[in-house]
Amino acid sequence: MVWQKTLARPVTFTGIGLHQGRPATMTIFPAAVDTGISFVREDLTPRCQVSALYDKVRDTSRATTLGDGSAVFSTVEHLLAALRGIGVDNALIQLEGPEVPIMDGSAAPFTELLLEAGLRPLAAPRAYIVVQRSFEYREGDQWMRVTPGQPRISYTIDFPHPLIRRQRYSVTLDTVSFRREIAPARTFGFLKEVEYLKSQGLALGGSLENALVLSDDGVLNPGGLRFPEEFVRHKILDAMGDLALLGMPLLGRVEVGRGSHDFHLKFIRQLMCRKGAWRLWVPPTYNREPRRSWSFTPAWEGAPA
Ligand SMILES: [Zn+2]
Repeated sequence: MVWQKTLARPVTFTGIGLHQGRPATMTIFPAAVDTGISFVREDLTPRCQVSALYDKVRDTSRATTLGDGSAVFSTVEHLLAALRGIGVDNALIQLEGPEVPIMDGSAAPFTELLLEAGLRPLAAPRAYIVVQRSFEYREGDQWMRVTPGQPRISYTIDFPHPLIRRQRYSVTLDTVSFRREIAPARTFGFLKEVEYLKSQGLALGGSLENALVLSDDGVLNPGGLRFPEEFVRHKILDAMGDLALLGMPLLGRVEVGRGSHDFHLKFIRQLMCRKGAWRLWVPPTYNREPRRSWSFTPAWEGAPA
């Protein structure tokens, strides 16, 4: 049995938002048992709070964006991967604007500062979604699969670029492996694509400080790559951030081929509809009946059977 965790103290991050290119400030506060991860915009009137759950996803083009009414919370995936990667179950994330700061394009700055702040165990055990039967979803050349087993994620990508081509990476989902192998992998983009996005008023904050930028035959960042397969490691980071939108850890093996935020979310919705493929595991010493305050229950209670 594992106790739920929150932060030992609040932590503030400042940086810029990837898409608007404006300063972005975020403070993460400790939160109570069973409240899960949620985002709040205190700069809006009225203030708006949204749970980090897959049914709150508003947009999946280029990043994962949560929303409620007119309030948006953009580029949440690297932060959510960091929180899940180090085992934070409950936290309240306050944004001063629509975007989570992009930092260096990886989850390392989040991971390191959160670990420095320390985690605090709470007086209730953690619940899990346990994979009971294999489930696979395909669309074109994209595929994603879960199978029963120890938590592990494997990812394969294929890009017609001399630095990438076919890359595959597989990692056990524990804090040490996440911190060392996945958190430091940065987001990446192709120079032509970045130029186009900027001409459309998007990715205005994108630079060599917060993304790997690929030319036709190499990488423009003066420091080069952090790992030879940094690209596929970053895809694992993205998938972890999207899977965190289940609201609790997934106990099982995950495999993905040529995924995207959009595809990860499609898979999650399909999986949640396959009731026989997974079950909710709540520790026997704990109240079996999910409490109304559990922020994650509505997500699949509302899912079609
Ligand atoms: Zn990413």
